[in-house]
Amino acid sequence: MQLSISNLSKLYPNGVQALKNVSLDIPIGMFGLLGPNGAGKSTLMRTFATLQDADTGTATLGDIDVLKEKKEVRKVLGYLPQDFGVYPNLNAEEMLDHFARLKGIHDNADRKMQVEALLEQTNLTNYRKRKVGTYSGGMRQRFGIAQALIGNPKLVIVDEPTAGLDPAERNRFHNLLSEIGENIIVILSTHIVEDVNDLCENMAIIHRGEVLRAGQPEALLGAVDGKIWELEIEKNRLAEMQAAYPVISVRHFAGRLKLRVLAEETPADGFNKVAPNLEDIYFSAIREREKPVVA
Ligand code: ADP
Repeated sequence: MQLSISNLSKLYPNGVQALKNVSLDIPIGMFGLLGPNGAGKSTLMRTFATLQDADTGTATLGDIDVLKEKKEVRKVLGYLPQDFGVYPNLNAEEMLDHFARLKGIHDNADRKMQVEALLEQTNLTNYRKRKVGTYSGGMRQRFGIAQALIGNPKLVIVDEPTAGLDPAERNRFHNLLSEIGENIIVILSTHIVEDVNDLCENMAIIHRGEVLRAGQPEALLGAVDGKIWELEIEKNRLAEMQAAYPVISVRHFAGRLKLRVLAEETPADGFNKVAPNLEDIYFSAIREREKPVVA
């Protein structure tokens, strides 16, 4: 099974073109949709989740027409939106039970079993009687995954799930995601390169509604292998260097700056060839698109 989308476009009434002819094939496993704020990620996620319509294009999940057979999609979908509300007076167990009823699991024993298994899987068994409103950020996101997994979905969508988590919480959340991504399609939308780096076997970079890169991270890295160059400079030389070379990123390093440049050949004396990373792919893709056209 795979999620295939072709030429999806969406223009909001205020004139923002949030998606422009987006085409992607998303197989089983973890798929990272990486892009800066405003790139169109949530718009795409909400379209998959049948919460809003695209203007044009097609999307199929196996043999389900995602844009037309919304009920069928919802039966196999788990969705963790960017912001999800909780009922302040319900504890985790009660809330999961409530969501399971909404999802149509009417058999009491079956529902109880699923809720218990999900609490266990997300490491929340010990906190099941605590009100979800009092959870830490990490616990809340794990609870979000638990509710998304009710009813054994085939497609799970998580929108910006690690924003605001501390490193330990993020790590725990990553472990949970990578476990569930083994047998189903999990789409992780994020602006955090590390999330994709750590977790995803397939990815796409989206910017201003357009897919700039798509593929396996290793393949994308392979395409720039041998073309990333690094140079350490004094801070006051930044503007000069940026004018002279196609700088893709700048990092503060012990009071100085480290520049990374994408170029076929060594840009100048002093540059060192370095192994590419996903950030290079991300920044260079965006830079390429933002670059003013020289007539
Ligand atoms: P991301 O999730 O990558 O941050 P979004 O899909 O939320 O991106 O937004 C893409 C663009 O569409 C942004 O410019 C945003 O301001 C705009 N946008 C999002 N939702 C709406 C809406 N309901 N009405 C009008 N514009 C919107």
